[in-house]
This record gives sequence, C-alpha cells and structure tokens, in this order.
Amino acid sequence: MIRIESKRNKFTYNIYHIVKAFYPGEEVEQNVDGEQEPLVALYMPDGSSFYVRSEEIGIPPCEKPDEEQLQKEKWEVTRRVYRYLAEVNKGGLAWGILTGVRPTKLIMQKLEAGESREEILRSFQEDDLVSPEKAQLSYEIACREHELLSRLDCAEGFSLYVGIPFCPSVCSYCSFSSSPIDVWRDRVDGYLDALVKELRALGKMAEGRKPDTVYIGGGTPTTLEPEQLDRLLGIITECFDISQALEFTIEAGRPDSITEEKLCVIRKYPVTRISVNPQTMQQRTLDLVGRHHTVEDVEKAFHMARRLGFDNINMDLIAGLPGETAEDMRDTLAKVEALHPDSLTVHALAIKRAAKFGQEGRTAQLHSEISQMVEDASQSARRMGMAPYYLYRQKNIAGNFENVGYAEVDKAGIYNILIMEEKQTILAAGAGASTKILLQEPIREENGKEIGIIRIENVKNITEYINRIDEMIERKGEWLWR
Ligand code: SF4
Repeated sequence: MIRIESKRNKFTYNIYHIVKAFYPGEEVEQNVDGEQEPLVALYMPDGSSFYVRSEEIGIPPCEKPDEEQLQKEKWEVTRRVYRYLAEVNKGGLAWGILTGVRPTKLIMQKLEAGESREEILRSFQEDDLVSPEKAQLSYEIACREHELLSRLDCAEGFSLYVGIPFCPSVCSYCSFSSSPIDVWRDRVDGYLDALVKELRALGKMAEGRKPDTVYIGGGTPTTLEPEQLDRLLGIITECFDISQALEFTIEAGRPDSITEEKLCVIRKYPVTRISVNPQTMQQRTLDLVGRHHTVEDVEKAFHMARRLGFDNINMDLIAGLPGETAEDMRDTLAKVEALHPDSLTVHALAIKRAAKFGQEGRTAQLHSEISQMVEDASQSARRMGMAPYYLYRQKNIAGNFENVGYAEVDKAGIYNILIMEEKQTILAAGAGASTKILLQEPIREENGKEIGIIRIENVKNITEYINRIDEMIERKGEWLWR
C-alpha cells in the first residue's frame, strides 16, 4: 500500500493519479492534514518515504495562500512527486504530470490564445513533463482538429447522437451500458417506440437547424433487424434535415451483427461512414474476451461492405488485451493493412469497474509491450496513408497510454472530435445517451463555479428509459437554445 499525506486538499487529485499511474495495481490511501509540516509526504510499500517541503519549492510559505499561490504550489509539488517516482521507477510517464483525458484540448486553448508552436511544445515538455513524442503528437492532432472544426459552425450548429444499447454478446472489458440482444429481442420494438418519440421531440426542438454530424452508436446498432434499422434511419432523416451534414456514421461494430440485408438498408440512406470493429485479429483473444465471432467474420463483413459501396470504413483495435504480445499486435496490424480501412482507431485497454474484467478484480497492468504495440499501430496507420486526428486518454488505461484515431484525408470522424473537444451542442437520444448543451452565456452554479456546458444524461436502464421517456424529453427542452 502507498500512503499519501497532503497538507492541502488541492494536491490530492493530481498526486493520487500520478501515483496510480506509476503503480496501477497498488492500493493507494490518502489523507489531508492542514497541520502537517511537509506539503506532501509519500510512504512507499518498501518502507521508504519522500517529502516535499515549502522551503524546497521556492514559494515562500504563508498562512493564507491565495488562489495563484495554491496553483503554483500544486504544480510544483506534483512535479517533485513525479520526478521522485520517475527516479524510483527508472523512467517517467509518457504524459508526464497531465492527468486529464483531453490533452489536445489544452493545446487548442493555447492555439486559440495565439501561442506559437515553440511555446506550446516547450510548456508541454518543461512544465507538464510530457515526452517530446507525445507533445509533438498532441500538437499535430490539435492543429488537425482545429482545421476540421473550422468547417462547421460550432456555436450555432449541433450534432446528433443516437444510442442502440444492444450487442450480440457483452465483451469482458466493456463498461458501456449495453445488453445482450437475445435477452431483449422481444422488447426492442418497445425501445424503438420510445427512441422514436424522443427523436421526434428533439427534431421539433431543433426545427430550422441542420445537424453537422449524425452518429448512431451504442452498443451495436446493427443488432437491430433490417426492418428496425430501416425504421430508425427513416425517422432520423424525417425528423432532421441532414442535407448539410458533413458526416453520418453508423457504428456497425461487431461483425457478427452485420448482414448483407442490413448493409443494403443502410445504403438506402445518406450514411457516409461505418465501423467494422475487430479489436484484435487473434482468435484466442476474441474467444477470451467474449466476442462471439471469428477473424474470418471480420474479413467477410469488411469485404461485403466494400462491395456494397461503403467507401469510408473505420476499424477499432485495442492494445493490451489479456495475453497479447507485440507480435500478436503486429500480426493483427498486418491483417488490417491487407483490408485497408479508411480510418483506424487504436485504444489502449481500459478496465473500468462496470466491466466484467473490472468486477473480477483485473486491473490494467503496466505492460512493457504496450508501448511497442501503440508505436507499431501508429506506423501501420501511416503506412496506410492515415494521419492522427483525435486523441483522448481514459483513467485505468493500460500503461497510461492514450486512444488515437487515424484517418486518411477527409475520412476523419468529425463527431469523435466534437465529443472530445466539447466544441458543439450534441443532442443525444437513447438509453444512457448524454446530451451536452453549449450555453450561449456561461452561468454560475450555486457553489459559485461558472459553467459553459450543461450535461443531461438519459437513464441507462432500458426499461426505465422506456417508462420515463417523457421526463427524458422534458429535461432537454428546459435548456436547448434558450
Ligand atoms: S461490442 Fe462494443 S459496446 Fe458491445 S459489448 Fe463489446 S465493447 Fe461493449
């Protein structure tokens, strides 16, 4: 166990996450004691300890520090703790002291503030201790995001998300609110009735506006039967004018849910992009994580989609799945390259409590080979003519790495950027879907905090969603475009 004793509450979040990133499998306890002398004390499992004292950090101690001093203290203390842990572990973390999930958002803010490339890279590397490679990667992605987002009216426009919370089976690492379709088959139409009601209501609220992007995700939307898919796509195109949408994505996802009939239904509508997600091309791993499909199913679904005219197909991979080596990843990448998708999203395994793996007590291990897997995936994407265009990190992510989306020119998933950078209102329909409304003017909450985004979450439970659909609709109406 590692114990952290902090003088100020302010330090606890960052220091906890830095310690956890170095020791993902270790229990970490922390206490705050305003009376203690060191700013932070760290007690390690081998009995050693480490202290950061006021006089060491070059900021004079004072009884009642103001916000500016507290911030300075926080970052200096975090840097010292990080450097100590990097020394003990004989190596630092690729993302340094950054604990947030959206490093590119920080760069976007700096770009918008007029900072130069040199200034941005310097502060990422020297202040946040990010590796030169990750600093360069985030800068490259932020610039590309900036350019892609300049094509939409972020302030006035909006995007639409529709969630289908069913999957052929539930993967062991999955923490999304998704249910096996076989259990729900009789009630899918009831779910669609509620979803249609919500879409009609949202369509009315958005009257006169046209979505910039539409994304149907989940879950696996192609678990719907062809008639149900037809009904859903028909309602979306009836309730929203998508004549100016830059993108209309359906995450077909699991190859075991994709049939020619369903793809033909999708082709009737102006869908521009689909996903066929293998996660890995290693059969023993697919079996282990509960994905009931074969490597050949992936190839078959991909070729079928190409034959039917889909010219923008994304594939998702996960680095760090149990038992996989860098050699397995190289083999997976070779098989993916043979298919040549238009975009590739590479996730580092994240195990959350809600996932089966999480409940079994598995934690993401610091995996010596993940770095190699992530690097090989990046080179593979570049060999296929793709460039990185979006990036995010998650907590509990294997090896403290990141998820990166790569795409060929003009094949990027713009919705993926919007959801990460929080630059546009996203109307979301379906169980567990989360609507984000960008306010024209920030408002002050009761605790004095200013906020510019309102989040409205639909209930995750499917039965509850159906039963409380009117309430789900009403809650959005209170905030939309007021
Ligand atoms: S296919 Fe995707 S959403 Fe469905 S269970 Fe697997 S990881 Fe979760």
